[in-house]
Parts: sequence; structure tokens; C-alpha cells
Amino acid sequence: MNKVRVRFAPSPTGPLHIGGARSALFNWLFARRYGGKFIVRIEDTDLERSSRESEENILNSLRWLGLDWDEGIGVGGDNGPYRQTERLAIYSGYAAQLLESGLAYRCYCSEEELAAQREAQLAAGEMVRYTGKCYGLGDEDCARLEAEGRKPVLRFRVPRDKTITIQDVVRGTVNFDCAGIGDFIIVKSDGIPTYNFAVVVDDHLMGINHVIRAEEHLSNTPLQVLLYEALGWEVPEFAHVSLILGKDRSKMSKRHGATSIEQYRELGYLPEALVNFLALLGWSPGTEEEVFTLEQIKEQFSLERVSKSPAVFDLDKLNWLNGNY
Ligand code: GLU
Repeated sequence: MNKVRVRFAPSPTGPLHIGGARSALFNWLFARRYGGKFIVRIEDTDLERSSRESEENILNSLRWLGLDWDEGIGVGGDNGPYRQTERLAIYSGYAAQLLESGLAYRCYCSEEELAAQREAQLAAGEMVRYTGKCYGLGDEDCARLEAEGRKPVLRFRVPRDKTITIQDVVRGTVNFDCAGIGDFIIVKSDGIPTYNFAVVVDDHLMGINHVIRAEEHLSNTPLQVLLYEALGWEVPEFAHVSLILGKDRSKMSKRHGATSIEQYRELGYLPEALVNFLALLGWSPGTEEEVFTLEQIKEQFSLERVSKSPAVFDLDKLNWLNGNY
């Protein structure tokens, strides 16, 4: 196996939550278990919702849990900068490459036009996705539309008759039919890249070979694989970790207990107990044992023992663990 390089890539739009902390922990454990590198990258391209305050909260929570990183804010590294808003020129370069090679195109459709297209598709009983209307516009058409004051987005042209197969370390083989994926936006009209585009460029340039993240991103993965292929880059291994549910089997929320790491810290919980608890949200050591130090989990951790069934958040168990330190 190549030297392991993994990352935690939070969007700084709020405090570090249980789910994010678990993703960070699994990446950290995987890196430490195999002598690899753990990178923290701040995905702050949602300019309205991102803040330095949230970034600080996330980084401080990671530090408090004892999850140190090898590259990223505060420690540097050769692959930075580690905030996406400081990497915009890098994404623009690759977007231009996709545009020149005809794998991406400018789209001038307005919100109203897109809504009308969707309605027509619904009325005709067709699959709802971008129609591809602007695909094939020539330079003159683009110049004319721009003269009208329209600003284009950049869309990636999705091959229609293709199946993307992912061998997910946790979920096994997952197939996606490209017919269901419309040509998707990679750069918005203000020049900011979308999540799917920036994440692929960054994971490639940062040498990430295992992407361990929450299941909610599974449906983004075929889009990312298409981009890796278009750019001629090696596709990393993927491991999508299951959702966290409350004891009543509904999605974890405030009703089931505090959701942010900061709240547990303020409530006086021990970081050792929280880390132990987070590790058991999806991973199992294969024995009845439940109380572990971070060091012990690190020695035993493997992605093969991460379950694909949803993890259940049980506050009683956290309290019990907390009493055992
Ligand atoms: N910024 C994304 C998030 O916070 C990262 C997803 C990923 O790991 O690819 O959900």
C-alpha cells in the first residue's frame, strides 16, 4: 500500500459536530495505524455560511479530542494553502483545462429558464436533470450572451451511457448510472468552484489516497470519479461511514443529546471518553470490550471493522464510558 494520506475536510459553517468528529477520528486512526499523514483542509467556498469563528471552533475541538494533524492550518505543509478560498487560482487553472478540452462548457441558463426546463421534464414524465441546452454553444454565441450581461457557470459534460462502479471499503460495490446525472456545475458564475470540483482537485494535489467520510457524500462520489477520469488522475479508495441515528432510529439531532463537541467539553465530559464513544459509533473491535484509550483503538483500528449499518447514538453509553475514566 502507498503511504497512507487521508484528510478531514470540514466546511466551517458551524461548530464541530458528533458526525464530523467521528469522520475526523476515523481518518486520524487510519493514518496513525498505518504510519500515514492526516491532513486538515478547510472547505470554506460557501462564502455566506463560512466563518473564521467556526473554523477556530472545529480546530480547537480537534485539539481537545487529541486529534493532531500533520498538514493544515497551524502546522503548514508543502501542499497548502489549506483553505479553499486561498486556492481559487488552482481551481481556475483546472477548470480552464476542462473547458479547452471540451469536457466542460459554459452555461448561461438563468434560474427561471432552469425552472422552466425542470417543469417541462416533469410534465413529460422525464428524468429531471439539466437538459444540456448550452452544450455546443460556439464562441460567438457565448460572446453575444455575455454582451447581454449574462454570466456563465461552467458545467461538466457527463457521458450518458456509462456506469460508474465504486468499490467502497465500507459499502462494497456500488453502481451509478450516468444517465441519472445531469451535466453538473463545477464553477459558479462568481468564479467560485463547487464542492465536487474543489474536493477532487484538492484530494489529488494533496495526494489523498483514502477518502473516509460520511455516507451523505456517497451520491457525490460518481461525480467526483467522473472528474478524476476527465483530468487523468488516479481515483482514491473510498470509505463511506454510516449515518448516526438517535436511539429512536431517527437522524441524530439535538433531541438525542448535545450535538457539538464544544457542548460536551463545557458539560465536563472527558475527551478520552468522547473519543472512545465516537470510535464505537460504527467501528467495533470484534470483542465485547468497550473501554479503550485512544492509543489502544489506534493499534486495533481497521476500516474492515467499520459497519455499514447505521450507528446508534446512545447517551447512556457515553455517560457510562465517562464514568470509567
Ligand atoms: N466539506 C465537506 C463536508 O464538510 C467535506 C466532504 C468530504 O469529505 O468530501 O461535508
